[in-house]
Amino acid sequence: MEFKEFGWNNIFLEIPEEMRFSRQGGNSKDGFFLLEAEDYFVEVRWETFDSKKIKSLPEILDALIEQIRKKIKKGTTDIKVVNKEDTFVCKHKALYAIILSKTEERFCLWYCDETSRVITLRFVFKELNENSKIIVRRMLETFNCHGEKSKIWSLMDLSFALPHSLLLTETQISVGRAHFIFTEQKSLFFAEKITKVLIEYFSMANLVFKDTYKDIEKWFKEKYQKDLIKRLREGKVEFETLESRKFRRHSIYVKNALKTSGLTWRKTSFFYNFTWYCSNANRIYSLTIISSIKRPLLFKREIDKDGLEKMLQDFLSTFKCH
Ligand SMILES: [Zn+2]
Ligand SMILES: [Zn+2]
Repeated sequence: MEFKEFGWNNIFLEIPEEMRFSRQGGNSKDGFFLLEAEDYFVEVRWETFDSKKIKSLPEILDALIEQIRKKIKKGTTDIKVVNKEDTFVCKHKALYAIILSKTEERFCLWYCDETSRVITLRFVFKELNENSKIIVRRMLETFNCHGEKSKIWSLMDLSFALPHSLLLTETQISVGRAHFIFTEQKSLFFAEKITKVLIEYFSMANLVFKDTYKDIEKWFKEKYQKDLIKRLREGKVEFETLESRKFRRHSIYVKNALKTSGLTWRKTSFFYNFTWYCSNANRIYSLTIISSIKRPLLFKREIDKDGLEKMLQDFLSTFKCH
């Protein structure tokens, strides 16, 4: 069986090649995602815990079973815990349980004290066999809830890594296009620093943008710029083309812009944009990174351009567009 990497909201694991990312919700603090294949699915949930109200793992499991019990119609079937055992996931002590209701379900839960989250995995298989055992084992063995690997994000043949401080603040996935915004906000002495990363792609580019996909400069001006400015919510931004460079055998167009706004609190923002057509995935990708600093009038506002450049290099080196 072939496995592939999957990452979302500080969670990384290896999943069977055939699995699809089918649903997601919440944010880095509380959320879930669902991975599905034809005969089985896996649900991963995380929730920030209050260190003053720590429950034991068996207590969390009991609450979980109670939730399932409420959903089942009275008298149709009961829930039995068939097996419970201690295990380790990503160096955390975990509880693994097999529960029998209409189907046999497997749960695994633990506290990740590095990210202050309780993580729960639920495995549901139509049929349990050797393969399902391999799948469960591989997912638990490769699971990463706090280390280097958990910086990886992946979605529909796209993957990249971002520092943990950049949180997913907006997601929109629709037919033919998707975008994600990651934000980091830091308050300092009379200053506010904001970093934003917008990742956007358009599928079936050679059909949808028949006249422009070969000329990315034209595409940017005619088909994208307006949308991009709306999406950034930063008012009018004038992008200037800097250069075109090679990236994974694609030509990428680099643009930047500088903007100052505000009256008593002045804001200076520096924008970088990278746009290219990936012929392998037949998608147009556009990445925009904004670094802003907000300070009261007369305070010096300086963007750390070297730091930004370094972050961009790191980010691009992990970006796999196909
Ligand atoms: Zn962890
Ligand atoms: Zn590509």
